[in-house]
Amino acid sequence: MLRNDQLDQWDRDNFFHPSTHLAQHARGESPSRVIKTASGVHIEDRDGNRLLDAFAGLYCVNVGYGRTEIADAIAAQAHELAYYHSYVGHGTEASITLSKMILDRAPSHMSKVYFGLGGSDANETNVKLVWYFNNILGRPQKKKIISRWRGYHGSGIVTGSLTGLELFHKKFDLPVEQVIHTTAPYYYRRENLDQTEAQFVDQCVADLEALIDREGADTIAAFIGEPMLGTGGIVPPPAGYWAAIQEVLQKHDILLIADEVVTGFGRLGTMFGSEHYGITPDIITIAKGLTSAYAPLSGSIVSDKVWAVLERGTDENGPIGHGWTYSAHPIGAAAGVANLQLLDDLNLISNAGEVGAYLNGALRDALADHPHVGEVRGEGMICAVEFVKDKDNRVFFDPADKIGAQISGKLLEQDKIIARAMPQGDILGFAPPFCLSRAEADQVVEGTLRAVKTVL
Ligand code: PLP
Repeated sequence: MLRNDQLDQWDRDNFFHPSTHLAQHARGESPSRVIKTASGVHIEDRDGNRLLDAFAGLYCVNVGYGRTEIADAIAAQAHELAYYHSYVGHGTEASITLSKMILDRAPSHMSKVYFGLGGSDANETNVKLVWYFNNILGRPQKKKIISRWRGYHGSGIVTGSLTGLELFHKKFDLPVEQVIHTTAPYYYRRENLDQTEAQFVDQCVADLEALIDREGADTIAAFIGEPMLGTGGIVPPPAGYWAAIQEVLQKHDILLIADEVVTGFGRLGTMFGSEHYGITPDIITIAKGLTSAYAPLSGSIVSDKVWAVLERGTDENGPIGHGWTYSAHPIGAAAGVANLQLLDDLNLISNAGEVGAYLNGALRDALADHPHVGEVRGEGMICAVEFVKDKDNRVFFDPADKIGAQISGKLLEQDKIIARAMPQGDILGFAPPFCLSRAEADQVVEGTLRAVKTVL
């Protein structure tokens, strides 16, 4: 086994970490964090520290760590057939079975699933599909995609553009010109404080209408949104938001892509976020919860309406010119089949709903009245606490204060609990594995209260 100092040196010298301050890490100013093993809701680092992971990795290890059923399925698949491609009609029992299991769980108007590797590439696929769709329909100018500020859809060229967070644009020459952004459905941070929630929804709709008018509906192909904003702050939409937005999209013949990378397969206590909020998407993006991150796999589920045009396109133009070497990778597919089976067998989605509601409620009871807590919010097994400098006058912390990071640091140090400081800087996010118990939820709440009191 390698010595810690050797591993740290190799890490600094060789490893280009994502979403990391590269210079500080290379200089050894930020620690190497080496995780060795994990089970249930706990991970263990190389020094034997056992940490309660209240963010399920990157809100993806939904069934919890150390599931032998999934590990065994992956091993069996690797022994039998580690790889074969899925081009020109090839497939494996695992990929065909998984596509059937996904469609059985998806809204009834969905038709087929295309498999990718992660959420970013799935959304790249989605943008290409809606462009192809409009070309086949003879509307080559209808190509722009509307996304929301604070949305997160990945960090590729087009998906980093769709992402409505400045950090992901800065110095990367993004967003590309085909992507335009509209108002985030974030009531707590509304500009006009006199607005009721219903008036704020009207404002979101009016902003969207104005954007469509300005650009021209005949230039806009699709609207993409997470059912609940995730990385942009964990913000449930205000009541009535999705119904009102969908009405506008239908009126202007704009497709709706529901990015369910976080909400798909149970995080809100329902199979899909679309089901939870009454959304009828034309395309659904899935990733994380599809395999609970036991292997990389994503998907684009397309509706009957989209599929009919794609079929027509290939009748007119030949095979679709889109595919990855690793589309429907058998090991990912085997992990997906075992994962979806486990969600059913252990009733984990209903546990996510029940224990999630308990966690949300307990966090609210413990923290909502704290003078520096602006809002506690969430649904199902995902929630957030937003901190504020001056609650009555709504003076927000400067992102440079890194309040979220200070509190998550204390939570880790004092109680060995991992929560995520969200990119905005003053939001602490929780999205534990669905197998979290009430006792573990209590631990998370007590630890968070202690950390908040230490920092603020
Ligand atoms: N879409 C959403 C809603 C996400 O939260 C994420 C990642 O967090 C992505 C897309 C991108 O997924 P990936 O990081 O697997 O590329």
